[in-house]
Amino acid sequence: MAGPSTLELISLTKRYGTSLAVTSINHKFRSGSYACLLGPSGCGKSTTLRMIAGHEAVTSGSILLAGSDISHLPPAKRGTAMMFQNYALFPHLSVLDNVAFSLKMKGVDKPTRHRRAGELLELVDMSKFGARLPAQLSGGQQQRIALARALITQPQVLLLDEPLSALDPFLRIRMRTELKKLQRELGITFIHVTHGQDEALALADEIVVMNNAVIEQAGPAREVFNAPRTKFVAQFMGGHNVIDLANGPVAVRSDEVSLTDVGTGVLPAVVTAIEYQGAHVALMARAHGAQDITAMIPEATFFSAPKEIGQPVGLTWPADRQHALAG
Ligand code: ADP
Ligand code: MG
Repeated sequence: MAGPSTLELISLTKRYGTSLAVTSINHKFRSGSYACLLGPSGCGKSTTLRMIAGHEAVTSGSILLAGSDISHLPPAKRGTAMMFQNYALFPHLSVLDNVAFSLKMKGVDKPTRHRRAGELLELVDMSKFGARLPAQLSGGQQQRIALARALITQPQVLLLDEPLSALDPFLRIRMRTELKKLQRELGITFIHVTHGQDEALALADEIVVMNNAVIEQAGPAREVFNAPRTKFVAQFMGGHNVIDLANGPVAVRSDEVSLTDVGTGVLPAVVTAIEYQGAHVALMARAHGAQDITAMIPEATFFSAPKEIGQPVGLTWPADRQHALAG
């Protein structure tokens, strides 16, 4: 559905010298949705985000927000705001002045901009820290300040480039819950760049998978996970085996693969590794054609008939749970 502030990319392209960082991508980001731009390092995610923000010139194509072309507007005039990977806070300015900075640039008087900054600090639960300098804050607190600073411009679209990558794993999970909550409360579009599929699955209404400067697949998180269109998406999303059968490559979720006796309709294999993972045991087995297949077996099932490395096993999965891949 095209909402009031749908963000649309049309044949968007970025060329650096002779190499293409983004190759003619087309996508509509739904108004008020949480979208994750997911892909491996170097696939063009940050370049795409910077073009949307206006920090990078477009080589060709256009960017429409609410139907109007913003591709050549300066960053402050676009209705977008960006939160950078390293937060980029000004070290010599107080937290309050960091948050108020863009209002100062717009010539807003001090009492007004400090009042607005105070409201934003409240939103991110940092009211008590207004007088501190960024160096006197933890990583998670700095991240909240960077968020407040981006949101003070009341953007229709917030762009976040790997916003959680500087945090330790525990804090990363807590902050991602808070990001999602904030997005729901504000009702604006978030476009969050990440190379972590777990992060994308946890957060996104929609996942846009990029690879080699193009969009490989886009859709709701469950759809991208359960119905990867290509080998790349199946492998990158994880949790799947890509298995070459006589009629072509198929994806089968690792938790759909089970062990059975070798027989008809069953793929014979030899156990190559066993990893205890708590709720599951990950069993790796090598089938014909040197294909490595992972079966995620519930702990109790595995230990009711434990296997050993080198043991022959049969691998099976429900026929209706495998699906063909484009290649
Ligand atoms: P990602 O964020 O997905 O890791 P980037 O968008 O940063 O990827 O980069 C995409 C490609 O563009 C990479 O090959 C990168 O080396 C190249 N690139 C990015 N910025 C520049 C630049 N300023 N000059 C030249 N090449 C660049
Ligand atoms: Mg990047």
